[in-house]
Amino acid sequence: MNNRYPFINTPLPYGYDAMEPYIDTKTMELHHDRHLQTYIDNLNSALKGYPKLQKLSLEQLIKGAPALPQEIGSTINNNAGGVYNHRFYFDGLASQPQEMPVGWLGRAIDQTYVGMDGFVKELTKAALSVFGSGYGWLVSERTGALKITTTPNQNTPLTTGLCPILNIDVWEHAYYLKHHNKRADYMGDWLKVMNWEKANERYMECVKAK
Ligand code: MN
Repeated sequence: MNNRYPFINTPLPYGYDAMEPYIDTKTMELHHDRHLQTYIDNLNSALKGYPKLQKLSLEQLIKGAPALPQEIGSTINNNAGGVYNHRFYFDGLASQPQEMPVGWLGRAIDQTYVGMDGFVKELTKAALSVFGSGYGWLVSERTGALKITTTPNQNTPLTTGLCPILNIDVWEHAYYLKHHNKRADYMGDWLKVMNWEKANERYMECVKAK
């Protein structure tokens, strides 16, 4: 995955129709080829006149954005965040997913949320509470403890020192064509294509890095 300027929109690791019938082909196509592409294009054009910033990775740009002058900082925050959040979301889907959390993450979810039902209930509550556009997240805190959180717009949990494990995009463009205004229905369908292997890998990375 290309992680430095100039950013390119790497193809999805599966077909646009791979999440049918849960997430429709047209939504996947528009979401990746138009929405994510726009964040990539805007990020590249924001970085054009800043050779020093061009050397930074996507994560470094996101973490460093608050320290930049506001006219460029917010543009970089929004667009680098848009690239990061979308790549994370698309990589977190699987065409042949497991039904339940696996591995270390599975055990941690069982312990923290007293099983999958408790976890789903809490994540759903959080994602439904996002007013307007944003994301629901499962993250690992510095202590290694699991936490469900949300971010508005294209903010990420990276700037608050949290280590992301999974995210659900709850911008309307992620579900409006199929689920219309029913965000909860979309969430139920998203859970059917959640990549639990990938989430477990990310969790183990988080634990190793702390
Ligand atoms: Mn999106």
